[in-house]
Amino acid sequence: GRGPFPDSMALSSPGTLNLETVDGSDPDPALLPDREQWPPPCEIREALFSSQEPPYVCICCGSLQVHTQHPLFEGGMCAPCKDKFLECLFLYDDDGYQSYCSICCAGETLLICENPDCTRCYCFECVDTLVGPGTSGKVHAMSYWVCFLCLPFPRSGLLQRRRKWRTWLKAFYDREANPLEMYKTVPVWKREPIRVLSLFGDIKKELTSLGFLEDGSKPGRLKHLDDVTNVVRRDVNEWGPFDLTYGSTPALGHTCDHPPGWYVYQFHRILQYARPLPGSPQPFFWMFVDNLVLTEEDLDVATRFLETDPVTIQDVRGRTVQNAVRVWSNIPAVKSRHSALVSQEELSLLAQDRQRVKPLAQGPATLVKNCFLPLREYFKYFSTELTSSL
Ligand SMILES: [Zn+2]
Ligand SMILES: [Zn+2]
Ligand SMILES: [Zn+2]
Repeated sequence: GRGPFPDSMALSSPGTLNLETVDGSDPDPALLPDREQWPPPCEIREALFSSQEPPYVCICCGSLQVHTQHPLFEGGMCAPCKDKFLECLFLYDDDGYQSYCSICCAGETLLICENPDCTRCYCFECVDTLVGPGTSGKVHAMSYWVCFLCLPFPRSGLLQRRRKWRTWLKAFYDREANPLEMYKTVPVWKREPIRVLSLFGDIKKELTSLGFLEDGSKPGRLKHLDDVTNVVRRDVNEWGPFDLTYGSTPALGHTCDHPPGWYVYQFHRILQYARPLPGSPQPFFWMFVDNLVLTEEDLDVATRFLETDPVTIQDVRGRTVQNAVRVWSNIPAVKSRHSALVSQEELSLLAQDRQRVKPLAQGPATLVKNCFLPLREYFKYFSTELTSSL
C-alpha cells in the first residue's frame, strides 16, 4: 500500500521562510505556513496561491523559499521538496504504481491514473489545493480517471502541465541529482519492447511477470548466456542491440565452475560490448547482482569496475533476514529502494548459513524484481500479473 509520510519528511520542515513577497511588501503573517504543521493545511496553501503566482511558491508545500522549478507542472519547488522528489521519483509499489504523489512526492491517500500506460498517483491534498477544493472527492467517485499528465488539455485549475515535461524532468534530474546519468523518459507511443542480455542468472521469469516480455516471447527479445568465456564483441554486436544487460553470481546450489570473481570480470567485459557509445541518448540500463558469494576483494573490484556503490536488498520475514543480495545498477531508484542497512556481520552470517542450509528455491533475481519497475517509463509493457509473488 501507499506509505504514510516517511520520517525523513518530518525532518525537512520548511525551516526559515524567506519573507520577501513578489512586490516587496510584507506578507500577511496569517498567510504563512504554520511551522508545526507539515504540510500546511489546504486553506493556507490556497491563500498562498491566491496572493502569489505559482512560480514564487513551492507547489508541493506552499513554502515561499523557492529553490528550483517543478519539473512536471508550472510552479516552484523548495529545497526540501526537491530532495524528496528526487528520492521518490522512480519509486514504485509492488502493485506497479508509483508510491508517491507526482506533484509533492508525499501524500497519504492517492488517486491513481487509470490510463493503462501511466503509473502515476496524486494525493488528495495537492489535487484539492491546486485544481480546486473538492476535486479529489469528485475524482475518487469517478469510474475512470486519467491524470493531469495524461489529460488532453494542459490546465486544471492552478495546475498546469509543463510543455515538454520529459525534457524538463531530465534537465531537473541532471541539474539536481547527478550521481548517475538519467535518460530522458520515453512517451508511450515511442516505447519499444525491451531487449535484454541476461548473463549467468536468468531474469526472464521476473521480466515476464512484470509485463516487459510477452509470455512465450519471441526468441531474440531476451538472450540468456550461462557461459561467456568465448564470447567476443562481434557476437554481442550481432545479437544486439540491447537495452538492458543483467548479470548475477549463480544462485546457491547451482554448480559453479568458476570462482565468484570471474562473474564480475566477465559481466564487466560483456557490458562494455553491449553499451551504446558514450554520450548516446539511447536509454541503456544494467544491473549486476551478487548473491553474497563475492569476497571482500571481489566487492572492491566490482565497485571500481562498475563505478557505483552496491546497495543491499533483503527479504525480511518477521525479524529475520531470510535472504539478501548486493546490487550494482544504473536503474533509477535502485538506491532509494535498498533496505535499512544490514550489518556486515549479519550478511556474512547469512552467507555462511545458506551454505549449510538447503537454499530456498528462489534465485537472486526474485529479490531485485521490483527494481525493474522504473523501466516502465522507458519501455513498452504488456499485460501483467502484478500481484506481488515475492
Ligand atoms: Zn516545498
Ligand atoms: Zn501531493
Ligand atoms: Zn496519467
